Amino acid sequence: MFSKKTAKIKDLEIGGSSPLRIQTMWDRRVFPEDIPSVVEKLKRLRVLGLDIVRFSVLDENDVEVLSEIQSRIDIPLVADIHFDYKLALSALDHKIPKVRINPGNIGPEWKSREIYKKASDAGAAVRIGLNSGSLPLKFKGMKKADAMVESATEYIDIAEKTGFDNLVISLKSSDLDETVKANEKLASLVDYPIHLGVTEAGGVVESAVRSTWALGNLLKKGIGDTIRVSITGSLEDEVVAGMEIARALGLLNGGIRIVSCPRCGRHVFDTDAMLREVKENITLFPKKDMTIAIMGCQVNGPGEAESADYAVTGIGNSVFLYKRGKLYEKIERKNALSELLKVIEDDR
Ligand code: SF4
Repeated sequence: MFSKKTAKIKDLEIGGSSPLRIQTMWDRRVFPEDIPSVVEKLKRLRVLGLDIVRFSVLDENDVEVLSEIQSRIDIPLVADIHFDYKLALSALDHKIPKVRINPGNIGPEWKSREIYKKASDAGAAVRIGLNSGSLPLKFKGMKKADAMVESATEYIDIAEKTGFDNLVISLKSSDLDETVKANEKLASLVDYPIHLGVTEAGGVVESAVRSTWALGNLLKKGIGDTIRVSITGSLEDEVVAGMEIARALGLLNGGIRIVSCPRCGRHVFDTDAMLREVKENITLFPKKDMTIAIMGCQVNGPGEAESADYAVTGIGNSVFLYKRGKLYEKIERKNALSELLKVIEDDR
């Protein structure tokens, strides 16, 4: 959204005046029998705001699986390649619209030239993805932030000399200052779209704090066109966290926004349990822009309900469901989620 150049991955543009793109990475290997459930989940993640998803590719079977998934959904997939450049070529032959290569392990220059040539013929994009933990050996001894930038620019040069520029660059570290410094330097040197992330960022709380600090700092300076919030946890949390960072910075509007009270001594409705239930089932919600409020008592409950599209509060097992600021129905706690979903579904 801030870069001068843009990259195209399938029909999706990254950078320039495009919105910030939200990414995640599939958290396990996918086998042919998993394809239907993966496709279903991706459709649900899309509801939450997912734009692009990356998959590890370890062998030719993974390429086949990815190709089949891509044929069933329009979310662009990225084949994440380490070590074996032939897998990148194969992914591109199988119409995967973007491959990620790691200069730290993809091998000699001619291999990346082959990848760029193939990507150019296929109309695909390439992400040059550096990670502070797997830098090319020749940069040993350099500051990692500088080494990542140096290595990235080297691979950009190779791409440009091959006549290829459909590039996205990422420089990731688990160290926040390193992540910020590396990306600031990169942005001062190149016009390509930048993918941001803090790698190995920890669980939900740790990653949310670290990623918000590092990515927020960079995005506020106009650096970053696509983000992933890496979480040891669920893909849903990664997408929601990415959307929340983007919303907090005013870079994205819409999607599903949840407001919930922390509870205090006045609470008569278990907002914690209700929030967990909504979050665990968030991918069942229809794709539309909405604010859902989950409130614990009558102090702020009615007020938040008025400004939310849908709201839930209650007393013990009695739940009050609000629609567009007005009390809609009183229901039993056990039916709260299904009724909320139904009200949202019907309210089109
Ligand atoms: S809404 Fe009620 S229960 Fe929740 S924090 Fe405010 S006063 Fe406490």
